[in-house]
Amino acid sequence: MSSIQATRMLTPGPTPIPDRVRLAMAAPLLHHRKDAFKTVLAENQTMLKQLFCTESPVIPLACSGTGGMTAAAFNLFQPGERVLVATAGYFGNRWVDIVTQRGLDPVVLRKNAGESFNPEEIRAMLDADPSIRGVFMQISETSTGVLHPVKEVAAITRDRQVLLVADGISAVSISPTPMDEWGIDCLITGSQKGLMLPPGLAFVALSPRAWRRAEEVRPQCYYFDLVQERASCEKNQTHYTSPISLLVGLHEALTMLLEFGMDNVFKKQWALTQMARTGIAAMGMELFVKEEGRYTWGLTSVRMPDNIPATPVVAKAFKDCGVILTAGQGDLKEKVLRLAHMGWIDWADLAAGLHALAWSLPVKPQGAYIEAALDAYHNALGE
Ligand SMILES: *Cc1c(COP(=O)(O)O)cnc(C)c1O
Repeated sequence: MSSIQATRMLTPGPTPIPDRVRLAMAAPLLHHRKDAFKTVLAENQTMLKQLFCTESPVIPLACSGTGGMTAAAFNLFQPGERVLVATAGYFGNRWVDIVTQRGLDPVVLRKNAGESFNPEEIRAMLDADPSIRGVFMQISETSTGVLHPVKEVAAITRDRQVLLVADGISAVSISPTPMDEWGIDCLITGSQKGLMLPPGLAFVALSPRAWRRAEEVRPQCYYFDLVQERASCEKNQTHYTSPISLLVGLHEALTMLLEFGMDNVFKKQWALTQMARTGIAAMGMELFVKEEGRYTWGLTSVRMPDNIPATPVVAKAFKDCGVILTAGQGDLKEKVLRLAHMGWIDWADLAAGLHALAWSLPVKPQGAYIEAALDAYHNALGE
């Protein structure tokens, strides 16, 4: 069925692309070994460091976010080394798979979906086993909408010979992730979530001690060699052919974010989160993550009632309202519905998302949930 309405991607990747970024990417292709492009890369580097809040280089890789995760596991650890993987969902489980493929020896700290970690439990595990060389975790577990206590874990790892590898793919540019201040050793993100770009780029930044480690470890995979990429980065190049249009789009997206100011970007993300949570609760739906301080700022997950599976609701929201929502992942497929609001999304998009959700339930909720949601949005902005 065709319909006269916009399609709104309220999904945790890909996310909508601003016109400024689309137009920048439509310009004639630059040659990746010529000066004009080197200027783009040099300026990207300055802006990426501001985004990551780090003095270290931020390495762009031509791959999806999972490629960045792979690069981290292969460049920082050698087969046989013991690492701690903290998982509470689909993307945490991906860490288990990746480190296993690298031949590492993972000790897995597993929590139920929707739960987070107690940093003291991680401290106790590191105390109990001094052979653990690294900790892998998500900042934001996108499958559940949980925000993990990475700052607190970094405070534990930074004083030990333990590297903290943080998947910030649905956190960087969405909520604060100051890499150097917190003491994260490896921070990863991707292009298609908070960065307002199409999929296809991952970013990896390493702390000085993680770089020293990367210099000792050989990745044993041809493409993801971070030491080689760093050498090219210092010459304002990428080691292999650059994804030129994406890196030009990145330049525009970073310019926009820094023009807004990251504090304002985070404030907007926070306000959207308050808006979504208030609207969902006002509809009589149950929030999947209830604990204050433990929900991510880029998506809000709803626990579906037992008799209402998520996928028909998602399908109807698209068919009738043009809004793309997302069901759960893995075991949570029918039990969780995710309403994402990351990147180039504003209150009006999110109002459309709340309406689409309500409209698509078997019994449409009554009450002024849109109004309550918008009040929460303005209140969160202090308006
Ligand atoms: C999206 C996402 C990924 C995977 O990224 P791809 O770009 O699909 O490879 C990994 N981790 C988290 C937390 C994500 O949100």
